[in-house]
Amino acid sequence: MRKPTVIGNWKMNGSRDGVRSLVEALVAQQSSCEAVICPPFVFLEQVSEMIAGSELRLGAQNVDWHESGAYTGEVSTAMLLEFGCEYCIIGHSERRAIFGETDQQVASKFAACHKAGLRPVLCVGESREQRLAGDTEAVVERQLSAVLEFSGIASFAEAVIAYEPVWAIGTGETASPEQAESVHVTIRSMLARLDARVSENIEILYGGSVNDENAAELFEMQNVDGALVGGASLRAEAFGSICRFAHESGRTQ
Ligand code: PEP
Repeated sequence: MRKPTVIGNWKMNGSRDGVRSLVEALVAQQSSCEAVICPPFVFLEQVSEMIAGSELRLGAQNVDWHESGAYTGEVSTAMLLEFGCEYCIIGHSERRAIFGETDQQVASKFAACHKAGLRPVLCVGESREQRLAGDTEAVVERQLSAVLEFSGIASFAEAVIAYEPVWAIGTGETASPEQAESVHVTIRSMLARLDARVSENIEILYGGSVNDENAAELFEMQNVDGALVGGASLRAEAFGSICRFAHESGRTQ
């Protein structure tokens, strides 16, 4: 059974006071779907304490694949678990493009999350040039294959996939519901060739300029199980509306 899921990626935004007011507002709203917020590392403890007893779930934006040691600036899965994280975004396009994360590193991070019992939110998606060249499916399949070859299909049983076309992230330009659906079907079919049950049950989220005005029509698509939301997740009311639309889409299969 797939659960409508909305994940907020706060990126490198926020301050102690700003986080307090945002989380207070989020907690005050009924969260009607699986709603996950991913603050910067330094706010995890504050957010974890504030959402205790609420329906909100906590996630991180990144993790290192080593267990511990001389990896300056990095954070381990055990640390995230200790601070109440249940989810971790892996392979966001900003990490791939700005910080040079390779498919192999993304696969290692995914494996580390799986081993530790953190739900990886694996981001895949093509650039504008790749879409214009007709390479969307090939790019997404290559990104997925790197993880499948490293960890195997069984490791996807607890994972979430986010299809995030790079050209739609933070640009205000959203993929049409049909464009999103088409790539989601490609992803689900690819997984189905390896394990029908995993493919049926995995949540595939769309990400890329999702807001409270375009979410409802995206969620009407059969294979769009929710959203990974950047900018709009910093506005409690917008995030709450997106969660409500996901819930109302009633998408369970
Ligand atoms: C993201 O950060 O994953 C994202 C989709 O951002 P935005 O919603 O701002 O496009």
